Amino acid sequence: MNKTIALLPGDGIGKEVMFGAEEILKAIGEQYHHTFTFQYGRIGGDALDHTGEPLPSETLEICKKSDAVLLGAVGGPKWEENSPELRPEKGLLKLRKELNLYANIRPVKAYESLADHSPFKREVVNGVDMVIVRELTGGLYFGKPSERQFTKGEESAVDTLFYSKKEVRRIIKTAFEMAQTRRKKVTSVDKANVLESSRMWRETAEEISKEFPEVTLEHMLVDNAAMQLLKNPSQFDVIVTENMFGDILSDEASVLTGSLGMLPSASLSEGGLHLYEPVHGSAPDIAGKNLSNPLAMILSAAMMLRMSFGLEAEAEVIENAVERVLDGGKLTSDLAKGNAGVLTTQQMIEEVKVCIADNDAILSIMEAYA
Ligand code: NAD
Repeated sequence: MNKTIALLPGDGIGKEVMFGAEEILKAIGEQYHHTFTFQYGRIGGDALDHTGEPLPSETLEICKKSDAVLLGAVGGPKWEENSPELRPEKGLLKLRKELNLYANIRPVKAYESLADHSPFKREVVNGVDMVIVRELTGGLYFGKPSERQFTKGEESAVDTLFYSKKEVRRIIKTAFEMAQTRRKKVTSVDKANVLESSRMWRETAEEISKEFPEVTLEHMLVDNAAMQLLKNPSQFDVIVTENMFGDILSDEASVLTGSLGMLPSASLSEGGLHLYEPVHGSAPDIAGKNLSNPLAMILSAAMMLRMSFGLEAEAEVIENAVERVLDGGKLTSDLAKGNAGVLTTQQMIEEVKVCIADNDAILSIMEAYA
């Protein structure tokens, strides 16, 4: 397979973790005879420093000409005082809009060997393996009007929660398609007891569920979902929800895994050009110190292989390698919590590479897909 991948490292630890993803993809390419061509683009503060813009047109062009986009992270104290248009985050928001990335997919998996690193009890996090599907281009964050108003000397503010039926259908269908390849359960989260947009959301979920008879649909009010995520998180398979609810719930769920450095994500477009990035930011406090955990970025690359290129077995080889490294007690400092044997970023990348090259373990995976 020949594929071109846009690599946008961005700022802070974005560069370090992107190096890890690139190394792992090179190893997979060599081992399974795929040619991955990497095209590098600047974004965020790095792009501001070099071009004066957070998303230069050259970067956008590189992305549009590629088969998939991998992004590190953007932002940092250096650019915090910039005007809103010249902030690093603006580059990422513009990229999401330009590529029409409507669905944010966040898997949340609690690794057995990390159960004691979560702030929750082992019995609560054991078995957690869910995907949160968040609508990303509509709802309260984009509805108009969104403004301050002044009426008879009184100041007020308005934001608008708007969804077209088409937008709701699109994201709920994505969730059902995903559930079909997993444990076949969709939890649709809304606030249908109060909001009209949620009532339309719920009706739409019911309509779509008829197209997927083998998938079970349940509805849950967002306040209950926030509680259930902490009380009994293993009940969830695929959660689908609107933009703001998804923003809050996916951050809440991320705590279950023990570290932000473990969480990958995908943002899907209708056109098929998808973007993959770790959930974490640029971590300026540890940037440049060889301390960052590269696994969220490496797992994002695995999601890319599966979702953009259909390379399911290769994705599983990476995920399996990560799991074996963790099972062997090899941890970066965000996970090790003061324990001995802490790995640097570079050492963690090497450990994953060693596991990928371990033929015995991967042969069984490849045979299963033969
Ligand atoms: P952050 O995710 O960068 O860091 C939060 C904490 O988690 C820090 O203590 C950091 O050291 C730690 N951490 C994060 N990723 C880690 C990893 N891979 N390995 C080990 N430790 C890790 O969030 P923040 O500190 O709130 O934000 C820092 C900058 O990142 C800000 O400029 C913010 O705007 C930006 N940001 C960018 C994105 C993105 O690019 N998608 C997302 C969130 C924040």
